[in-house]
Amino acid sequence: MSERCDHEHSGGHGLHGSALSNALAEAETRCEGDGQRLTAPRKRVLELLLAAPGPVKAYDLIGAFGAGGEAAKPPTVYRALEFLERQGFAHRIESLNAYVACRLGAEVHAAAFLICDCCGDAREVEPTGSTAFMAAAEGAGYAIQSMTIEAHGKCAACQAN
Ligand SMILES: [Zn+2]
Ligand SMILES: [Zn+2]
Ligand SMILES: [Zn+2]
Repeated sequence: MSERCDHEHSGGHGLHGSALSNALAEAETRCEGDGQRLTAPRKRVLELLLAAPGPVKAYDLIGAFGAGGEAAKPPTVYRALEFLERQGFAHRIESLNAYVACRLGAEVHAAAFLICDCCGDAREVEPTGSTAFMAAAEGAGYAIQSMTIEAHGKCAACQAN
């Protein structure tokens, strides 16, 4: 995790305890429904993303992968990230070169992030207008694989401080 500013924030939004295990169980069920398997490495990477208060770099996931602190083989983590992204469990934020667990759930969808350049927070919001955009793409015979909108600025907490 990158260093954070010392502006007052109302707590990180990483999941812990039962909220975390519930989210993982849900992901497992969703995978089964899709005929996919949430293998141990996939589950571990998702767990790390869900528990993190903000975007995490692949490098940090590799370092934190082993519960005992031992690093994972990078391809293990990259393959798991690829799977999670494809299944809509995680998003890659290009401009930060980092990953976040999807907070909006369910389907693979276009994502929009409000990124705070001060504290590094990245909040996922419903991208308005994405349906029209997708319809336009479809009209052009284009098959969208992923679509992520990244807005940079300052979160409410950082502006208030
Ligand atoms: Zn999402
Ligand atoms: Zn901020
Ligand atoms: Zn700040």
